[in-house]
This record gives sequence, structure tokens and C-alpha cells, in this order.
Amino acid sequence: MSKFIFVTGGVVSGLGKGITAASLGRLLKCRGLKIASQKLDPYMNVDPGTMSPFQHGEVFVTDDGAETDLDLGHYERFIDENLNKYSNLTSGRVYWNVLNKERQGEYLGQTVQIIPHVTNEIKDFILKNAQVSGADVSIVEIGGTIGDIESQPFLEAIRQLSTEVGRKNCLFIHVCLVPYISGSDEYKSKPTQHSVKELMAVGIHPDLIVTRSDEAVPEEIRKKISLFCNVAEDCVIDNKTLSSLYEVPLMLHEQKMDEVVCRELGIEGTTSNLSEWEKMVNSIHSRKDEIQIALVGKYVKLHDSYLSIVESLNHASFVVGRKLKIKWVDSDSVTDKTAPEIFKDCAGIILPGGFGNRGIEGMITSARFARTHKMPYFGICLGMQIAVIEFARDVLNFSDANSREFDEQCEHAVIDLMKDQEGVIMGGTMRLGKYPCKIQKGTILEKAYKSNLIEERHRHRYEFNNSYREQMQDAGLVIGGTSPDDKIVETVELSEKEHPFFVGVQFHPEFKSRPNHAGPLFVEFLKACL
Ligand code: GLN
Repeated sequence: MSKFIFVTGGVVSGLGKGITAASLGRLLKCRGLKIASQKLDPYMNVDPGTMSPFQHGEVFVTDDGAETDLDLGHYERFIDENLNKYSNLTSGRVYWNVLNKERQGEYLGQTVQIIPHVTNEIKDFILKNAQVSGADVSIVEIGGTIGDIESQPFLEAIRQLSTEVGRKNCLFIHVCLVPYISGSDEYKSKPTQHSVKELMAVGIHPDLIVTRSDEAVPEEIRKKISLFCNVAEDCVIDNKTLSSLYEVPLMLHEQKMDEVVCRELGIEGTTSNLSEWEKMVNSIHSRKDEIQIALVGKYVKLHDSYLSIVESLNHASFVVGRKLKIKWVDSDSVTDKTAPEIFKDCAGIILPGGFGNRGIEGMITSARFARTHKMPYFGICLGMQIAVIEFARDVLNFSDANSREFDEQCEHAVIDLMKDQEGVIMGGTMRLGKYPCKIQKGTILEKAYKSNLIEERHRHRYEFNNSYREQMQDAGLVIGGTSPDDKIVETVELSEKEHPFFVGVQFHPEFKSRPNHAGPLFVEFLKACL
């Protein structure tokens, strides 16, 4: 049976609970344990799929096509276990399930209540994830901050679960901000004390407290937290801000966090081997001169909207040994006039995914600049569609070429819905999750993946319109990858004789890149940029 670690957050949101949980997961994995992770989000959306990137940042897609919170991306990158549809649960999903059961008469006429029906639904979900993953340890992060009204059913559910599976099989970790007051040059433990009090009011006593701060929290403050919050001294763990997220597991390991967690959970006989992780962290520090890449998008005001892309570029930068600098370019700002100035200090352009009309013309201009100036271009999902539209307009001379998404009436919809997709609406209607892709010999794609059959994750509605396939190929667009039955175009590129790197992929390779196994296309792109 799985043991459970519940991670809650105190004082403020956005503390990096997810990074703490993911780092602990990596440490336990490096002790030979099988880890599952899960995030419980208190908001009422059924999943984050329909939320604006400006509100919620990136939507992370799992192999089985679940649209999930971006913290799940950290879990996959740190722990390197593929997550699934049981890895993310929102209040919206809980109520949706409960109300559907009620309508179908499954509660046999009972009055449906928060306790036990809502809490049972949450507990079932937590147990299901532990069961399907066959994990030794399930790490469950509760979104939001202690004291929020909306997270109460989740806290009640984990409190109940801890008695049901046995208190010795559960561990509660509370991650708290410890503020520094510069005027008096002091760290303050009071917010942590109050937050723990709040947690105890719902019947949960933390076993470990992780203190978050910019600099290391002095020992006397950690001792004070230990005393006032009733946790052992070695159970107060310092988590200061580091230059790279990937160093966090090593910082926690130095304080013996994994050993303490195993001791508290009664897990015996494991030893830690962090050598591969340490090697990767060393490669971060040994990077030399900077390389600047332009990231052209429509949600660049919130960098979290492109979190996995940025991380994938980082992973590739560890491989090529250059420090990565991203120039955030709002696609609305790119015109024929501004492009030379914007891109003059960039080694390449990456154009990530997106939805809706705004900013599209600036993206097309960026793709044209990259193609005609032989500047490396990597288009992902929408970025691939933009490359196709640009090629159709400029090379095939279809001046109105577009995607049906942006111009319903256009004559040359080179990106369109497939026949069986007509009438689709918002919310859960996209091509989502893992699909195979067959790779043509002699392509950049083959050079990158060193394989002729790969699997990557998708999240889109529109596709390359097959009616233009022949004309595009005749004009020099190489179709590097297709679905195994040849029906769907998955990638396009220009021949390496024409251009150093001009690649567009309909899938999202950023979801599978890992710090110690960088996504092959990101590495190939950066090599071309160098
Ligand atoms: N909006 C495009 C589509 O739905 C691209 C989606 C994306 O970039 N993820 O097909």
C-alpha cells in the first residue's frame, strides 16, 4: 500500500509548494522508491483547459490527454514519471462528479452533503491515483493557502484519509513564507505560527515545516518555529531561493529532508543516489557565454504561460553549454518595419502555441523574417500552423491564406478542421494527449530524434489541410512527420540545404523534455542557433 505525503501552503500563495513537493519526489525516487504525484486545486473550473493563460499560466497536458495545472509539469520534470488524468483534481471536477451521481440516483435518496459525499469523492480520487500508479509514496499537493474558504473540503478529506490509512502512513508538510524585515534586519516566525494554528484548527498537525525565504532562515528562527509549532528541530527545513530550480533537491538533501521523511513514514533500508542529478546541476553551472532566443507569443506578459517551453530551452542549454537568455517579444509588436530591430540580437526565433486571432499577423511576419533571413525558427503547434500560412502566402502566392480559426470565410484555409471535427465547441474537444508520429528519412526531425517513430503530446483543434499537401511539397516544404497512416501532417520543415533550421511541429515536445533528458528538437534548434 502507498504511503501519503500531503503538502499544504501557508501565509501566501505562489510560494513554490509545487517545487518543494517535486524536489522531495525526486529525492525519494533517488532512494529507489516509486513516486506518484497529485495536485488538488480548489478552484471551480472543471479543469484549467478553458482558463486564460494570463490568469493561470500554461496548461500542462499528460500522455492520456488530461489538461492540468502547470505544477504537474514540475512533477514530471523533477520526478520523471508520466502523470495521468488522476493527477489533477479541481473543486469543479469534484462537484461535477458528485452532482452527476446525484442525478443518476447513485446516492439512493440520501441528502447529498459536503461531508461525506464531497469528501468521499476527493478521498476516492487520491486513493485511485495511488492505486493506478502502484506508488510506494504518493505526494499530494493542496493548492491555495491555508485559511482559504474554498480549500476546506480538501483539508477535511486529507484529515479523514490520514486516520483511515493510519497516521503512521501519512506525513503532513506545511510550506510557509518566512518574511524578512529589512528595517530591523529580522526574519519573522509569527506568520508561520499563525498558519500552523489555522491548520490545527482543521485537525491537521504538520510533521514537517518548510520555510520559504529569499536567503537562508537563521537557525534561531528555525528553532523558534520548531518550539512554537511543535515539530522536531530536524523537521524544520530551509528552502531559500536558488539560481536554478533544479538545485532545490540538492539543498533539501543537504538538510537530510529525504532521510527525515523516510524516518517519519517508517520507510527503512533505502539509500540515496543523486549522482545523475548532481551531474545535471553541474552542467547548469558550467555553461558559458549567453545565447539569446526570441520567444514570440501573445501571452508574453505572463512568462508562466510558456513555462514548459522555457524549461525545455533551459534543458537544451545544459546540453549545448550556453546560458540561455530569452527575449520576450509580444507578437503584436512585430511588423516588417520593426522585425529587423527586434531580432537583430537574437540567434533564433521560437514560436509557441496559442489560440485566437490577436497577434497572428505579427507571428506570420516573424516566421517570414526567420525564413527569408535564414534564422533558425522553431514553431510549436500554432507556431507550425503559422509557418504553413506564411509559406502559402509568400511562396505559393495565396495572399489570403490563413487558418479557419482566424478567418472562417477564407478561400485558402491551409490550416483547417478535419472533416470529422465539424461543429466542435470549447472545452474538452481538442486532439489531446499522446499520438505517434512517423518520421521521414533524411529530415531534421530524424536527425534530432534518431528514430523513425516517436510519440509526442498534442493540444489543438486545427490541422494542416491535406488539399494543399502536394502544392506545398512541390514548392519545397518538406513534410517530415505524419501520423502512421499518413493522413495527418504532424511536422513541416525546410530542407537543410535551404535553411539551417526551419521546423514546425503540430505537437508539443515541451511536455516531455526533462532536465536530464532534454527534448531532442530543442537541442537541435539551439545547436543550429549556435
Ligand atoms: N489554436 C490552434 C489550434 O487549435 C493551435 C493550438 C495550440 O497552439 N496549442 O489548432
